[in-house]
Amino acid sequence: MALIIDGKAIAQEVRAEVAQGVAQFKAEKGITPGLHVILVGNDPASETYVRNKELACADVGMHGVAHRLPESTDQATLERLVEELNADGAVHGILVQLPLPKHLDALSVLAKISADKDVDGLHQISAGRLLTGYEGFVPCTPRGIMRLIESTGEKIAGKEAVVIGRSNLVGKPVSLLLLNQNATVTMCHSRTRDLAEVARRADILVAAIGKPEFVTGDMIKPGAIVIDVGTTRVDGKLKGDVNFEEAKEKAGYITPVPGGVGPMTIAMLLSNTLLAARRHG
Ligand code: NAP
Repeated sequence: MALIIDGKAIAQEVRAEVAQGVAQFKAEKGITPGLHVILVGNDPASETYVRNKELACADVGMHGVAHRLPESTDQATLERLVEELNADGAVHGILVQLPLPKHLDALSVLAKISADKDVDGLHQISAGRLLTGYEGFVPCTPRGIMRLIESTGEKIAGKEAVVIGRSNLVGKPVSLLLLNQNATVTMCHSRTRDLAEVARRADILVAAIGKPEFVTGDMIKPGAIVIDVGTTRVDGKLKGDVNFEEAKEKAGYITPVPGGVGPMTIAMLLSNTLLAARRHG
């Protein structure tokens, strides 16, 4: 029977560390770290995420500022705001809430964010820095996943890690982070042959697919660390990519959904913002 990795509790630990770091930074520098979030349009889920970010910032003693722009905002206006925030010394982190309305080019906006303020870690420069081992910003969910894996106390070096999913947001960065920790990493996707066979090799299995309960018990090596990144709403309930009931009988450690990876994402955003302020504040 697997041990449950309690993402809520670990996220709370991270937030407490950040709050302490913010207090120390303020005392030493007289500067309050500031995260600025840009929201375009009225998508209710995005509204909630932005509100939660504002509250989370306040909770750790940071400035959390939301720039709410109308749905009709054009590309030039949005990019001008990003440039203004880039130039503002009181702004340490900039995040553009995705998805943007369809008429806007998200990649182009993200590319305009200063790499020194890219606390979401989605800029091409941040991705390049992660790939080449230079200091930069790591996307929040993958950073959170690594903290959850580390919380088990198991050594990562030398382990077989299998990551299902190759998105820029989760799969690719988490694979690189595991590789940087000297795991032997296999990245799987929709064209992978014999996926179950590959998954069964994993001492560390990360599922970032977006297909509810895709990973079944027979795909899990006994004793494995299983990290379920998936969040899909099914009949109003949040479902992960792993069949939890089956997997918990085989795994050594497992994250639940909800209460696993989810709470880590905002915690790591706060942590990245403090890092940005320390580096460039
Ligand atoms: P994504 O961009 O849609 O990527 C999904 C990946 O899964 C793709 O690489 C895709 O392969 C792969 N895939 C799809 N069907 C597959 C199959 N049958 N077999 C093997 N691989 C398959 O999704 P994402 O942004 O990485 O997110 C993944 C999940 O994590 C979603 O449920 C999302 O909501 C969740 N998520 C949660 C958090 C959090 O904070 N908890 C944060 C981010 C994402 P191809 O590349 O070949 O198409």
